[in-house]
Amino acid sequence: MIDILFPKICLLCDNSLEKTIICRSCSEAFSFIDNARVCDVCGVPYSSLSEQKLHLCGNCISNTESLLKVRSVLLYKDKLRDLLHYFKYSSKMYIADFLSDLVIDRFPSDLSGFDIIVPVPLHIRRLQERGYNQTVLIGKVLAGNLGVRLDLFSLKKVKYTKPQVDMSNFVARAKNVKNSFHVSNKKMFSGKTVLLLDDVYTSGSTIRECSKQLIEAGAKYVFALTIARAV
Ligand SMILES: [Zn+2]
Ligand SMILES: [Zn+2]
Repeated sequence: MIDILFPKICLLCDNSLEKTIICRSCSEAFSFIDNARVCDVCGVPYSSLSEQKLHLCGNCISNTESLLKVRSVLLYKDKLRDLLHYFKYSSKMYIADFLSDLVIDRFPSDLSGFDIIVPVPLHIRRLQERGYNQTVLIGKVLAGNLGVRLDLFSLKKVKYTKPQVDMSNFVARAKNVKNSFHVSNKKMFSGKTVLLLDDVYTSGSTIRECSKQLIEAGAKYVFALTIARAV
């Protein structure tokens, strides 16, 4: 059941509050990514001065033909990690609203002109286990706010895979999700620019796998947006 009542204390500490779900001191602990200082393709934040002058990171420099651009809003750490974990396992719609507001406020300016929003799907079995897909909740709010179509049925997770957090390294993560997504309705993406939505970017395996399927189905370009990014 979706819980719509606001909590009386902060979800992340014991501070009392009104008409919000996270107190000011916890909110101030969130780290936003400066998307003017990231790799143009994969969105990795630059830390050193020399890297800020580059448009592409070392991994993307030989990949100038990429049809995928990745951006994230926040760094995946500390209190935000706790909040996203809580969001995944407690079906509280007000967390989706709170996170959607953060995403809308800091929406990366170079992701514009997309035709359709596609949340990364869960396998039907995982969906039954968990009861809902938290990324779909964010997608619904974003689509309504931006006036863009939301599609929940054309990209499917067809292979039941182990959770990516259980994988020990990048190679294992890539292998785990390989060929696990499938486009059932190619017409939906033909010639379109797609905004692919996920909660956390870690190794990028899931995003790349979904993007590959969307491009093969005829999508012109894929923007991937995640709430958080692990660095
Ligand atoms: Zn707090
Ligand atoms: Zn890069």
